[in-house]
Amino acid sequence: METDHPRLIDAYHRQLNYLRISVTDRCNLRCRYCTPAQGMDKLRHEEILTYEEIVRVVALAVKMGVNKIRLTGGEPLVRKDVDTLLPCLTRFPELEDISLTTNGIYLSDHLESIKASGIKRINISLDTLNPRIYESITGFDGFHQVWSAIHKAADMGFDPIKLNTVVLKGINEKDVIELADLSKTYPFHIRFIEYMPGGFVDPGARLCHVPNSTLKQRLSKYGRLVPVPRADMDGPTVRFKFEGAPGEIGFISPLTHHFCETCNRLRLTANGHLRPCLFSDWEVDLKTPMREGADDARLARIFLQAALNKPRSHKLASTPSVSLSGKMSAIGG
Ligand code: SAM
Repeated sequence: METDHPRLIDAYHRQLNYLRISVTDRCNLRCRYCTPAQGMDKLRHEEILTYEEIVRVVALAVKMGVNKIRLTGGEPLVRKDVDTLLPCLTRFPELEDISLTTNGIYLSDHLESIKASGIKRINISLDTLNPRIYESITGFDGFHQVWSAIHKAADMGFDPIKLNTVVLKGINEKDVIELADLSKTYPFHIRFIEYMPGGFVDPGARLCHVPNSTLKQRLSKYGRLVPVPRADMDGPTVRFKFEGAPGEIGFISPLTHHFCETCNRLRLTANGHLRPCLFSDWEVDLKTPMREGADDARLARIFLQAALNKPRSHKLASTPSVSLSGKMSAIGG
């Protein structure tokens, strides 16, 4: 491996080895916690990074110590020819972990090429097992499509299959039991994510999170939750298993137990900016210099600038109405 590029270490000595890549700002769903009801301004095609540019950024990031990437969006599977990008990323031997986050609507049609590319790990967003509630959260009657894609992925050997559930007070909090119960039958990892308020949705939507400690207490009535030892690539998920279950339950608690201290993430937005913290509007443009012919050394300096501007922590719990100009879909969650 070339060693002439500096490692991505921030001002608080955190090594940034995880790059989340928003492949597109476009999404086929309008999840209430993610997208404003009136929709969003879309980036023009020429504003988003080409696949060649994404691969170049990844190649450099890898030289600077990134060993984990996630493709997200918007909805990554709505971008044209996204299947051609995947094998270009799996060819970096330094990447120990490559995964994809999707809402699952178009997943069935892409599973063969995802598998062929070598990606084994998929996260699928699923907030309920009730088709009516699914439609009320996402704006689309698509539960059965997602459910069948999840089973097809399991049959094809994808492992682990993680189901991401954002829990909203009074909307899908009752569905948590049924979702957690899936882990008793299937080897799925069900992950409950605290709803993060922000500039993503209409203030009038009045959405509210449910603390994961409350969920854990509720779930404990349905079986003993046994802690799962942490693994290297776990990130902020705190993992449990119902005794004897094939699957797992995970809690991701950005509000009640923020994990800023150990945050190892940088985000590459769909329009080619590096964003060191989801909850800070500070970003640095990588695309313009790249298109003006910058060499890798210059791009590496921009990467370092992003790392050094990573704040020590977000202020979400103390300022719950934090307003961000970036939208979750463009940034990538
Ligand atoms: N379209 C893909 C999907 O639905 O999985 C990927 C993009 S989505 C922005 C990535 C993740 O962010 C999803 O798991 C989603 O549930 C989560 N997310 C979006 N808005 C959120 C919010 N306000 N609070 C917590 N998680 C959120």
